[in-house]
Amino acid sequence: MGNAAKDTGPTDPIIASGGCTAQRLADLVNRLGRGVHCLQFADGLNPAQWDALRYIGRANRYSRNPSALASYLKITKGTASQTIKALESKGLVTRQPHCTDGRAVHLVVTTEGESLLQRDPLKRLEGAIKELGTGIDAAKLVLCELIDGVEDASGKRGFGVCEDCTHFCRNEMPNDSCGPHQCGLTLEALSGMESSQICVDHNACARV
Ligand code: SF4
Repeated sequence: MGNAAKDTGPTDPIIASGGCTAQRLADLVNRLGRGVHCLQFADGLNPAQWDALRYIGRANRYSRNPSALASYLKITKGTASQTIKALESKGLVTRQPHCTDGRAVHLVVTTEGESLLQRDPLKRLEGAIKELGTGIDAAKLVLCELIDGVEDASGKRGFGVCEDCTHFCRNEMPNDSCGPHQCGLTLEALSGMESSQICVDHNACARV
């Protein structure tokens, strides 16, 4: 037999620690966050700009505005404005007038922005998550509880996907051209595509 090294498991001092205390798990989550942050210095954007581009691409019609973006990213309106200007200057995002409120704007991802999102550096994390297989649902529950714990401590709440909202009424407006679903809060019709978008007014029963 050769001298092939026996696999003794992770050598990282944090990962290799026996057992798992809350402090060790917090270290791991923090480290994952730093790793994901570093991944997002890509294609000429920084992590905040990637976050904003991703959000604008996924947000619904009530939520594609600078104020909601600032709230979602937990940044000031001034910082959100600077981030939006940077994305506009790169041709990735544009502003459109709101259909009913002349003073409001809709943020829209351009075709160039959509192309860039196809190369989203978070896809590397998605690949690692897919490796979890059937563990994905359990991981989601754990992460949602951790996010709730952190956001409760800071007094802030999160957003969510429309079809997980307690106001979402599935197939309530099947004959409406904008349907078939309905928002129980605004009483407006929602399309199938909108049902999977992120909403600022989401009432939580499950998170993004
Ligand atoms: S159903 Fe909930 S998440 Fe969907 S648009 Fe209405 S308030 Fe927003």
